[in-house]
Amino acid sequence: MCANAAKRTRSCQPPHQSPEKSAVITGSNSGIGLGVAHELARAGANIVINSFTDREEDHALAASIAAEHGVTVRYIQADMSKPEQCRALIETAGACDILVNNAGIQYVAPIEEFPVDKWNAILAINLSSAFHTTAAALPMMRAKGWGRVVNIASAHGLTASPYKSAYVAAKHGIVGLSKVTALETAGAGITCNAVCPGYVLTPLVEAQIPDQMKTHNMDRETVIREVMLDRQPSRQFATTAQIGGTVVFLCSSAADQITGSTISVDGGWTAL
Ligand code: NAD
Repeated sequence: MCANAAKRTRSCQPPHQSPEKSAVITGSNSGIGLGVAHELARAGANIVINSFTDREEDHALAASIAAEHGVTVRYIQADMSKPEQCRALIETAGACDILVNNAGIQYVAPIEEFPVDKWNAILAINLSSAFHTTAAALPMMRAKGWGRVVNIASAHGLTASPYKSAYVAAKHGIVGLSKVTALETAGAGITCNAVCPGYVLTPLVEAQIPDQMKTHNMDRETVIREVMLDRQPSRQFATTAQIGGTVVFLCSSAADQITGSTISVDGGWTAL
């Protein structure tokens, strides 16, 4: 399954056994999506990574994941705010045994001031894209009698925070979509689940730290512990590799009967 058997690790085994599997991960040229791509590649899946850009570095990133894990990796440009491009991503991939809906953006403002274009963009990218990619991928999965849909939701798919109306609505929506997808595919060898991360230290989150340090007049460690992670009882970020490892588990045969579930990776946030 892995072209470079020498680089194969034990974690190569679970998702796929044989024959080899193909995974499409939306919004995966950075952050959590990239972490998921690495872990699925490490486990032996061929990978499609995606974003809306089409830069040399996007294709170079695909080549570097391929070289590191000894699998086939392609970069396919598609804008997840556009329904036809969501569906075209799956068609262009040609095979999709594992679909990870990860693309997402954030905007923070009170409801009365929330810009309509930001609301529409968040709903389109964080929620509707998963509807379109799933609709395009399910026929491929049904034809093979095996498939995995993993939706990257959030602790905000289970709980709320002020000023995040669009994000919280979209993430609750994707938890609901995951349950419906699970019911419609139950018994067909296909599962669908939502992973609900708490705070994960991605470039997006890292970029907020200097501003928070200024605003609160605190050092980096204090801002992280007291401001950013105040709702995460572990006071530790989750890592992209941990989210990727959770996706690999959901793709393993141990998870054959896990469907329509949410799995929190949030340091205890939603236990509060
Ligand atoms: P990120 O900004 O690092 O990654 C977002 C990815 O989505 C990028 O690859 C970006 O290029 C892509 N993307 C954005 N708009 C797109 C579009 N129109 N079309 C295609 N791709 C697009 O952020 P992240 O923190 O890695 O977030 C990834 C997912 O995880 C999101 O759904 C986010 O809501 C979720 N999440 C993140 C955290 C966290 O703390 N970082 C916590 C819970 C959930």
